[in-house]
Amino acid sequence: MKTKINCVIFDWAGTTVDYGCFAPVAAFINAFNDINIKVSAKEVRKPMGMTKIDHIRELFKLDSVTNKFQELYNRSWDEQTVAELNKSFEKHLFASLDNYTSPIDGVLEIVSELRSKGFKIGSTSGYNNAMMDVVTAGAAAKGYAPDCWVTSDGMPAGRPSPYMIYQNMINLSVSSPSEVIKIGDTIADIREGVNAGVYSVGVVLGSSDLGLNQEEVRDLSELELKKLMTQVRSNMLVNGAHYVIDTMAELPSLIDEINKKSSKDSSLERPYLLLTPGPLTTSDRVKKAMLTDWCTWDAEYNLGIVQYIRKELLKLACVQEYEYTTVLLQGSGTYCVESAITCVIKPNHKLLVVANGSYGERIGQIAKYAGISHKAIILKETEQVTPNIIEEALCSDSSITHVAVVHCETTTGILNPLEALAKVVKSAGKVFIVDAMSSFGGIPINMEQLNIDILISSANKCIQGVPGFGFIIIKRSILDGAKGNSKTLSLDLYDQWEAMEKGEGKWRFTSPTHVVRAFAEAIAELNEEGGVEVRNKRYIKSQNNLVKGMLEAGYEALLPTELQSPIITSFRYPSSEFEFKSFYAKLKKQGFVLYPGKISQCDTFRIGNIGDVFPEDMVRLAKTINENS
Ligand SMILES: *Cc1c(COP(=O)(O)O)cnc(C)c1O
Repeated sequence: MKTKINCVIFDWAGTTVDYGCFAPVAAFINAFNDINIKVSAKEVRKPMGMTKIDHIRELFKLDSVTNKFQELYNRSWDEQTVAELNKSFEKHLFASLDNYTSPIDGVLEIVSELRSKGFKIGSTSGYNNAMMDVVTAGAAAKGYAPDCWVTSDGMPAGRPSPYMIYQNMINLSVSSPSEVIKIGDTIADIREGVNAGVYSVGVVLGSSDLGLNQEEVRDLSELELKKLMTQVRSNMLVNGAHYVIDTMAELPSLIDEINKKSSKDSSLERPYLLLTPGPLTTSDRVKKAMLTDWCTWDAEYNLGIVQYIRKELLKLACVQEYEYTTVLLQGSGTYCVESAITCVIKPNHKLLVVANGSYGERIGQIAKYAGISHKAIILKETEQVTPNIIEEALCSDSSITHVAVVHCETTTGILNPLEALAKVVKSAGKVFIVDAMSSFGGIPINMEQLNIDILISSANKCIQGVPGFGFIIIKRSILDGAKGNSKTLSLDLYDQWEAMEKGEGKWRFTSPTHVVRAFAEAIAELNEEGGVEVRNKRYIKSQNNLVKGMLEAGYEALLPTELQSPIITSFRYPSSEFEFKSFYAKLKKQGFVLYPGKISQCDTFRIGNIGDVFPEDMVRLAKTINENS
């Protein structure tokens, strides 16, 4: 069914009034200043658009603020502190709010044009009712008065929840989200629209994300302004905006464009859950992100998406940009491992690999093919790599310079003790290389604290993107040493990095654009889920449900709990008559795809629980298996 847009819901500050959204910024800074804590305008702007008390809580959560508060007051901040700061914020805001109610250029004209065409005009705000009494009165006196305004007062929650939009729809008798455009200037605005299921539109000039007043915009060179605007635009798109416009003047033609399009995409087909550790089940949101074709020479792609991803990856690894950098490389995960091993390890170096599965063994194979001097210690697949094994190997061969291990060995699902391994490798002064392919993003890894030199992972594992490229997070000092050491052209880690760094997000050879865009979406999704710790908890819960349910169905896990990762689990065949092929085929028809076993010592099959897969899915799966047997 095709519907037409008949309602536009505007945000207030930064969108329709208060160009650049300056009123709250000053009030937040002053309120924190009153308790002797400095917050920057940039920090203040990040959560902009949220209900103010939620916004204040986000600011307290900043490490710098949390630590400073502790240092000054000898205790941690709590809800009482947040409430008190909110009072002081309100005092500062009310003192100046009346000065920030002028409509942004062009808004009055657009609203009157929309009205003449019969559109309903709604609005939502991060301000509360008392603040809005001031703002709406000031704006009305200058000619701007939407048909209705809603704040989060009395709502279950403010942005990014959708309730204020629904209240507008009730007040204005709008019958479907597909008839609504929500337009705003912050990420909280964009998410509010996405969560409400309406068309979510961002506006760049005058936005809080741009954070510039009109004179500042005028003073920038065309190039500088374009670069900043591109960053804002891309950030909005990555956070789910359906469209982004530079100014409100583009709104009428955007509405025409939307009305011309066929009805919104429905949910995507998902014949079964892929319970394999990559490719894995991805969300609709990640899949839909691939429906646009991107050109690789545009700043929107390079600066906005590729550089965004590189920055976010460093954050996920808990490292600083001055010490570490990241290289994205086409191909599957193995290409990245091969690139790192063959570029970083030089003729006068020697690599130690301790393997307890086929991915560890593969690192040894890579070294062998490249003629790299190495020693491979092959353990049983059910035996953990221990610090002792590494310590002994290092003691018996002082020519070893680099040590490589796999964090989660996907062959069985065994987890190697990364922290303890890092300790022995680093106290021996060796370079530590970690294949964290199937753990990064799903198990917290503080690369800086563990002093890991090189970490390798790929798009289609715990960050839950689709396959097509991988990445290497590496200490800059080590990467510098890899210059000119590559034996191949396309896997040259240093050259790939140099092109990407100098070209601000350019890939040396054809970039997997759709995959990269989907990956940016997957990162945004990870951040929204609550980050790596929260995702890790979900994986643990899923894995626990799986093992418990499978045991009830008569299937025993290969590994003891203390060696088991929350990523993928191997199960023994329940009897010698068990036939995996028919078991697999039957379950596939019932909506679950499993993974064959990979180990030599006994018959197993594997079930992964990473991806857009939840603890309830594991309960359902075990129940289905139980009923089948
Ligand atoms: C997936 C994976 C790899 C890479 O395998 P590709 O098939 O090249 O993507 C490497 N190591 C581990 C531990 C893995 O799980």
